[in-house]
Amino acid sequence: KHVAELIAAGEVVERPASAVKELMENAIDAGASSITVEIQNGGISYLRITDDGCGIARSDVKNAFLRHATSKIQNENDLERIGTLGFRGEALASIAAVSHVEMLTRTQEEELGTRIVLNGGEIESFDDAGCPKGTTIIVRDLFFNTPARMKFLKKDVSEGNAVANVVEKAALSRPDVSVRFLRDNQERLYTPGDNSLKSAIYSVLGKKFADDLIPVSYESGGLRLMGYISKPFAARANRTMQNFFVNKRFVKSRTCMVALEEGYKHSIMTGKFPACVLHIAIPEDTVDVNVHPAKIEVRFENEKRIFDLVYYGVKSAIMKSGA
Ligand code: ADP
Ligand code: MG
Repeated sequence: KHVAELIAAGEVVERPASAVKELMENAIDAGASSITVEIQNGGISYLRITDDGCGIARSDVKNAFLRHATSKIQNENDLERIGTLGFRGEALASIAAVSHVEMLTRTQEEELGTRIVLNGGEIESFDDAGCPKGTTIIVRDLFFNTPARMKFLKKDVSEGNAVANVVEKAALSRPDVSVRFLRDNQERLYTPGDNSLKSAIYSVLGKKFADDLIPVSYESGGLRLMGYISKPFAARANRTMQNFFVNKRFVKSRTCMVALEEGYKHSIMTGKFPACVLHIAIPEDTVDVNVHPAKIEVRFENEKRIFDLVYYGVKSAIMKSGA
């Protein structure tokens, strides 16, 4: 049983960045308006995520760490229209199985919060705790009990960069949520959470990037595309600055990437790539996010409609800008 648990854990938590991704998703699903992420040594020895979301009621705290325990879907119909970032009920169980976890949490209704400590998935303590509404989770010594996995981790710097990347995508996915990121005690990112995508872009990608953007706002048959694309002259040498979000979830989509680049076809040099931060809003039952545990790949019911949305949205934005 124990070995099976460790194997299952490895599928969800590959590295510190994947733990941070899951924990930030939980914070967002909990309705947080601000999230702080702190890491030490690339997140391998220490990571802490603090949110001001709904918290977990005392009676649910232990359950939250059980595999396949999720409060987010009740039946198979819910799987057809997933409105939360999490739904598999695996993250907390997986992270706890391969680390030392400490969680402090309190709901609005509770006077006292709860503190739970787990070592390698086993509950070590469970007590009252005075704490603000919301949840703080500290993860120490990730993979301490899975040396094989530990060996595959890169240097602190690379793991830390991967965490930074995850935090940045989360910040761009939710401009209405304030995100703070501290790396080895230094603040590396702060977004105001003022619900302006432009100000999130400014914080995450910098002023220079934000100044060279064309706004996109396009709608077609109930699908919406909105965000920013780079001016043709500000094209990049690679695709790392292409950010697509589907229903506020960061995704990797070939369809979107090709549509974006086709939209620029006659306005950009070959060998150069447009940058973007584009949000696509579509009905939840027309996209399948349950393709892979990491939930970064998605399947669209109608790829052609998504292609057209991005292609025509980008093309018309470039035309309107006169670039
Ligand atoms: P999932 O997100 O797929 O439901 P998780 O293992 O990530 O599974 O979390 C298990 C459950 O714990 C969630 O369904 C939720 O009820 C609760 N939970 C986890 N993190 C938080 C949080 N930061 N705030 C409030 N509730 C949380
Ligand atoms: Mg989750």
